[in-house]
Amino acid sequence: MCGRLDVSMSEESRLKLLCVTAHPDDECFGFGGALMLAAEAGVETSVICFTDGQAATNRGTATSGAELGRMRREEFAASCKILDVTHCEVLDYQDGQLEFANFSEAAALLVKRIREYKPQVVLTFGGDGAVNTHADHTMVSCFTTAAFHWAAAAKRLPDLGPTHTAMRLFYNTTNFFFPGRAAPLPTPWTVTLDVRRVQSRKFDAFRAHTSQLPLMEKFQSFFEKRVGQEFYTLAATPEPRAAVQMTDLFQGL
Ligand SMILES: [Zn+2]
Repeated sequence: MCGRLDVSMSEESRLKLLCVTAHPDDECFGFGGALMLAAEAGVETSVICFTDGQAATNRGTATSGAELGRMRREEFAASCKILDVTHCEVLDYQDGQLEFANFSEAAALLVKRIREYKPQVVLTFGGDGAVNTHADHTMVSCFTTAAFHWAAAAKRLPDLGPTHTAMRLFYNTTNFFFPGRAAPLPTPWTVTLDVRRVQSRKFDAFRAHTSQLPLMEKFQSFFEKRVGQEFYTLAATPEPRAAVQMTDLFQGL
């Protein structure tokens, strides 16, 4: 099972990636390729998921929200294992309600995690809410963006430990829209990741989300035409620079 991000278990010398998501299954749909390629390159990876996904349309055999939440926590842990994620954590925020959450508290929670864990690379959604324009995704983007900047700022939340300046904040973005659905306003990508060699494991990770398999079946043929790449936007770095196209989130680190 996933637990609180345990910093004492992490190795100071390794490069670290922190990925912040909203729902169990975001980690494979959105970020699976990036997580596996990082692990393959020896990077320690962590995923923090804000909710247990109990407001999902697809509910498996669950008879209550709490039961679905418990199932989806287990599915998330199984998916993270397939994606070679080193640490995984599900927070207790309410699925579908992140726009009403206390912004300062959510951002502070992430500031604390970033200052303790000290990742070089932070991944999250863009402000568009990803390809399905989910408001929870937009809010996670806002919390994580604030936390990335505030973790590095001595005047922000000084009680939460010494500052940490992560080197890169990336937003997950897209080169396609879902047919028949409201289109997002995505960030232009600056990173194209070739994820072909880990693609089949990305599908395996999604299949670990047993309660969400109807979703997979619905979009399978659509996704199969768009496999092999993930797109990210470099959203913040400590150095002023022009945007350049990259093929690796850790290029030059
Ligand atoms: Zn989601």
